[in-house]
Amino acid sequence: MVDLKHQYLNIKTEIDNAIQEVIDSAAFVKGPKVSEFEQALAQKMNVRHVIAVGNGTDALQIALMALDLRPGDEVITPTFTFIATAEVVALLGLKPVVVDVDYDTMNMSIDSLKKAITPNTKAIVPVHLFGQCANMQQIMDIAREHNLYVVEDACQAINADYTFRNGETKKAGTIGHIGCTSFFPSKNLGCYGDGGALFTNSDELAEKIRSIANHGMVVRYHHDRIGVNSRLDSIQAAILLVKLQHLDHYTQQRQQAAQFYNEHFRHNPNLLIPAIEPQSTHVFHQYTLRCINTDRDQLKQQLQQQGIPAMVYYPIPLHMQKAYQDSRYHQGDFPNAERLAQTVLSLPMHTELDNEQLDYIQQCVNNDTL
Ligand SMILES: *Cc1c(COP(=O)(O)O)cnc(C)c1O
Repeated sequence: MVDLKHQYLNIKTEIDNAIQEVIDSAAFVKGPKVSEFEQALAQKMNVRHVIAVGNGTDALQIALMALDLRPGDEVITPTFTFIATAEVVALLGLKPVVVDVDYDTMNMSIDSLKKAITPNTKAIVPVHLFGQCANMQQIMDIAREHNLYVVEDACQAINADYTFRNGETKKAGTIGHIGCTSFFPSKNLGCYGDGGALFTNSDELAEKIRSIANHGMVVRYHHDRIGVNSRLDSIQAAILLVKLQHLDHYTQQRQQAAQFYNEHFRHNPNLLIPAIEPQSTHVFHQYTLRCINTDRDQLKQQLQQQGIPAMVYYPIPLHMQKAYQDSRYHQGDFPNAERLAQTVLSLPMHTELDNEQLDYIQQCVNNDTL
């Protein structure tokens, strides 16, 4: 699905030097590379504060901790997402409330969101699934109207742009009160291990987030709140500083591969190509087809035999997961998410796909489905 080896070889000297520099400095934790990376990313994202942490799941957990929510407060997430989005809500003793997604964009359904709001709702966690922003215009409008926090799960959408009705454009993750991202190796900006970050334009939230990520302290050994230990190490920060310079190029490579796929699958009556949310750019963390009139699992198997990896993200919506069973929810409650779970198939998508590979993939997919 990804080709991190070739991506590394193309920037080997830069990466090797960056890693060696950290080893020579022996500043492995909380070194200057981490703050240098935070500042470089803040500038790229056009946001006041970037706080680097251990991974994307930690970022989501710390974001919710910073909002001082109380047990039983309701947090709304889409049911069609990676588990981490709801997991942290449940772990903190908050109540995950799931909503359906749009069948076309696969992002949070605004109708479903409106219906889920109660007097106990405190926050919305939209997920910018597969690399394009959810409908942030409406989500922010609704949040303002009901006085709710918005924590964006931008783990799959770093560098996507969202344009508001008034013409203002913002980066994914910098729109809500807090945004979260992941630097897991296969993410669009990935390090060589685990990493994550939070974005915020609020000085107050930034200070709180920094303190929570560092055992709840501001002054050393004075613990003002209960925190966690979550940090990006210096070697990862140094790698990310190098890769950040290539992020725009990487984004274009993904978009070009997606365009190739689109051109070759657009006229296939048995497949639906990804629908574009008109206000957002798409950075194609995943290129995800919907299989109609064709057996998705059989196609996946055929592709496997032809040497093409293809994956189902995600086969089970949150409300159907064993650990999240809840008498409030039943099969059939979120028909779009349930239909997507049956029909989606993601093809190889990364920065090193060449035309020969793309052409082989499209030929196989079309032959297998037509
Ligand atoms: C990757 C991902 C996460 C979690 O990131 P980790 O760094 O693996 O903890 C959370 N939400 C979504 C949507 C993701 O894709």
